[in-house]
Amino acid sequence: MVDYTEQQEELRELAREKNALIIAHNYQRPEIQDVAHFTGDSLELSRMAAGTDADIILFCGVHFMAETAHILSPQKKVLLAELKAGCPMADMITAEDLVKLKGEHPQALVVAYVNTSAAVKAETDICCTSANAATVVANIPEGREIIFIPDRNLGHYVEQKTGRELIKWQGYCPTHEYITAADIRRTREERPDAVVLAHPECLPEVQEIADSLESTSGMIRYARESAASSFIIATEMGLNHRLQKENPGKQFITPTRKAICPNMKMTTLPKALATLREERYEIRLDEEIRSRALAAVEAMVSYT
Ligand code: SF4
Repeated sequence: MVDYTEQQEELRELAREKNALIIAHNYQRPEIQDVAHFTGDSLELSRMAAGTDADIILFCGVHFMAETAHILSPQKKVLLAELKAGCPMADMITAEDLVKLKGEHPQALVVAYVNTSAAVKAETDICCTSANAATVVANIPEGREIIFIPDRNLGHYVEQKTGRELIKWQGYCPTHEYITAADIRRTREERPDAVVLAHPECLPEVQEIADSLESTSGMIRYARESAASSFIIATEMGLNHRLQKENPGKQFITPTRKAICPNMKMTTLPKALATLREERYEIRLDEEIRSRALAAVEAMVSYT
């Protein structure tokens, strides 16, 4: 076991000196989650950071997340701990792709999962998270066409929940698509007592057989409140660290070792330290893009 204490103390000390806030997504490496001031999902973290008086936000996550933090906190300096960490799903749709699709459906409202670039958000009407996507869509007047981007699996989940038909972009998260129904069935046979929690980014075949479909924050709540003592967690493996830490008496089982997001794991303690020390990898947006993207994020509130 590697001892990270010294580097973690160094990073916390540097953060104190610079009045910086360290935030880490639930899928980050354990040693990064442990050193962060806050862990959570992308929008939750960006909102939390906006409510603090920190001068610098060190975002341990992927590119669109740091953009979202900047959208909500333009006066703070937002640093992405590892600049190369992107999101393949967010990269599956560009602003040009979306403009073209809107041209084909001029009456449609565009609902975009937060896992999109700021340029795509700027072309969007309403943002959503995996936790509120179904509510957002359910609150759009009946009969209105809806374009849903970029995740076809979250789109499928929303269609099932709301009975609405969506014009779905065919993007997906490669990490979640590695989890198959066969993985779930096999793990369930080994552990028939375990509750299966799946993220709606999983394939429809996995969604169908899960006991409950939950966002990462939903899984955290479910595990805390449930009387069950073991859970099969169908999402990126990094979440298990937090689940285990918060529920030491319960057991969290991964259905496949393939459910690892390589982009999320690019951030290491030495890289985070160097980024904060040098104040490198600042994420800034053109002000016009930022304010249009902000309007889409704010619109979400009125649809939930
Ligand atoms: S887990 Fe999937 S959605 Fe999340 S950053 Fe990685 S590729 Fe993107």
